[in-house]
Amino acid sequence: MTHVVQHPDTQTLQALDNAHYLHPFSDHKTLREKGARMIVRAQGVYIWDSDGNRILDGMAGLWCTNIGYGEKRLADAAHRQMLELPYYNSFFQCAHPPVVELAKEIAELAPDHMNQVFFTGSGSESNDTVLRMVRHYWTLKGQPEKFTIIGRHNGYHGSTVAGASLGGMKAMHKQGGLPIPGIHHIPQPYWFGEGGDLTPEEFGVKAAQELEKAILEIGEDKVAAFIAEPVQGAGGVVIPPSTYWPEINRILAKYDILMIADEVICGFGRTGEWFGSQTFDIKPDFMPIAKGMTSGYIPMGGVIVSDRIANAFEEKGGDFNHGYTYSGHPVAAAVALENLKVMKEKNLVQYVKEDIGPYLQSQWQTLAEHPLVGEARGVGLVAAIELIQDKATRQRFDEEVGIGGICRDISVENGLVMRACGDTMIISPPLVITRAEVDELIHKAKLALDLTQQVLTDKGLL
Ligand SMILES: *Cc1c(COP(=O)(O)O)cnc(C)c1O
Repeated sequence: MTHVVQHPDTQTLQALDNAHYLHPFSDHKTLREKGARMIVRAQGVYIWDSDGNRILDGMAGLWCTNIGYGEKRLADAAHRQMLELPYYNSFFQCAHPPVVELAKEIAELAPDHMNQVFFTGSGSESNDTVLRMVRHYWTLKGQPEKFTIIGRHNGYHGSTVAGASLGGMKAMHKQGGLPIPGIHHIPQPYWFGEGGDLTPEEFGVKAAQELEKAILEIGEDKVAAFIAEPVQGAGGVVIPPSTYWPEINRILAKYDILMIADEVICGFGRTGEWFGSQTFDIKPDFMPIAKGMTSGYIPMGGVIVSDRIANAFEEKGGDFNHGYTYSGHPVAAAVALENLKVMKEKNLVQYVKEDIGPYLQSQWQTLAEHPLVGEARGVGLVAAIELIQDKATRQRFDEEVGIGGICRDISVENGLVMRACGDTMIISPPLVITRAEVDELIHKAKLALDLTQQVLTDKGLL
């Protein structure tokens, strides 16, 4: 393949990185000691580093390059749109062709009762938007005291102040005095980690009823909305037991609480439908989206809203005092439109549902036979394995061992990006991955497990 861009050598790049680049979500001390891995190009499901290593990207970047790397049509769409209209806003009663066309496309893919889209620059901004919309909605309805939003421990909704507050990541809350007021967290539906002696089905109901408990404690007239990912992504690919969503649906309807299904990962085919809410039969009033909507080629996010919300905004009139300079950016919208076109032409969502998803999941299950693996789970093209010391009791390794991090580093060294969430190893590959590439992924994941086991044996931990 020809290189489009020339770059300095690894050492020079790492020196620049160390001197000037402040990384997101990183331990800056160890990063500076080790030096960042420089990713210089990518094609299909593979990335290459500056030393020429080819690595299978089992994470699709950060859960986003759904159509894979190197799709020229998206570059062409951006180029065309930049020449035609590189920027204009939608603040003062203006719009432009790509943004209205994109809104229509997304509304067609969304559940029937959701027909309008607000655009943002990222998933985090989408959740900031949702928080404002939820509270604005109840104010319009004459119930401003319906203010509290209920989220879940270990949920992830982004890294802005509202996003991190809605999320349930303890490490994030510790920095910056979060969460902000008016947000409450309930336990997550994580059977492997927290299910104890209950069956998954029993535990699913119990975890859902935590929502009802919280609503009754806070007061039905004070709770505005519940926010949850259909499948928790950054929390470790937590897939709720089958009993969970039906019980949540029942509770939300009973107390008239709005549902926010954070589709930033699940949206755009990841679970084998266009949206995770369709896979799990969730009834959202809001669906924050980002990531797969442009396959990560350009930053863009949005919030799909139900007719109930859109109608309330319209009926009462008055400004909704919220928006971003880049809301509905024309170049991003043109790229998103082309991305959806590619996905449709390649039938990628059906491919995930009927072909490559079931294939990946059946192969992924073979990892459960490995002595280090306590559970293998997944849906569509997202999956996890739990690393444990004792299969029978689901006993984990001592936290100090840091087995997840060990396994991740070994995996990347051996040509596969797997991510570690604590001791849970996760994958979320591009939707275009082939069966042969899935075989390679599984082979490399097994190799990483074997080598991790060897490290533990050498350290006398097994
Ligand atoms: C990544 C993510 C976000 C935040 O999106 P950004 O684009 O990183 O701001 C929000 N919600 C979920 C479920 C995510 O996975």
